Amino acid sequence: MEVKGKVGVITGGGDGLGEAISKNLAAAGVRIVVGDVVEEQINRVVDEIKAAGGEAVGKVANVTREADMAALMDLAVDTFGGLNIVVANAGIIRDGLMINTDRETGKVKRVMSTEDFKLVIDVNLTGAFLTLREAACRMVDNNYPGVLITISSVNKTGQVGQLNYSTTKAAMALWPKILAGEFHMRRINNIRVASVSPGYAATAILQNMNQKALESILKDVHLGRLVEPDEIAAAIKFIVENDAVDGADIEVTGGLTYARSRAK
Ligand code: NAD
Repeated sequence: MEVKGKVGVITGGGDGLGEAISKNLAAAGVRIVVGDVVEEQINRVVDEIKAAGGEAVGKVANVTREADMAALMDLAVDTFGGLNIVVANAGIIRDGLMINTDRETGKVKRVMSTEDFKLVIDVNLTGAFLTLREAACRMVDNNYPGVLITISSVNKTGQVGQLNYSTTKAAMALWPKILAGEFHMRRINNIRVASVSPGYAATAILQNMNQKALESILKDVHLGRLVEPDEIAAAIKFIVENDAVDGADIEVTGGLTYARSRAK
């Protein structure tokens, strides 16, 4: 698909990977709609895209709210007359063990709260569902060609301490197969679905992780450093441009292995 002149909506586009994706697509000529829960961040990203010569608008839109997602997609259609690229990027973590025991007594001293479990499911899973559903309704009804993209994670394989988060990210890697299959059944042949699984990338979300655990995990990364947000954004652009990428998940992890580099 030719990206120039297309219309893209990025949830969680006010920071981190979403910001990089918004700016990267805007630089390629995509007209961008930034959704996020933090208004100043939305305004900053929109202003920076415009200052760089791109086109963008933004709106406070919480992915957990049906009406917000409908309004965000309508903003794209009303402002730019179309909707072609939708990245369900907004995501959060609330890490912890399901049950944590006291070192001395061996008894349970803390649990993952129901609130922390549900919040991550709500934002990462229900949020992506509402994002893609509201987008797909408008794309199908108006015959807008395009691509729906979810953000999974290398942690889709199951990261200890992230029962809630890994659950949502495993799901995100499955959705392209399920939804591309749905569209195929209904002869919706001009909307593709794909996902990107980033490795550990240099954004604010990592600040909420256990830093010792992160340091240890990085020893298993062949690349030897965090993945840059621009490297994830480049994978998104590749998906958009390549019509053969469909029903699939692409890993951009810097080579996260289960082997540890020898200490120097
Ligand atoms: P981030 O915390 O830097 O940015 C997330 C953005 O989403 C923020 O701007 C935040 O305000 C917004 N947001 C949070 N809750 C929202 C809601 N309810 N509705 C709308 N917007 C909301 O995070 P990031 O690292 O850029 O992560 C982006 C996506 O990439 C997430 O889905 C995350 O799970 C995934 N991911 C990140 C990494 C990484 O290492 N950074 C790795 C794998 C996957």
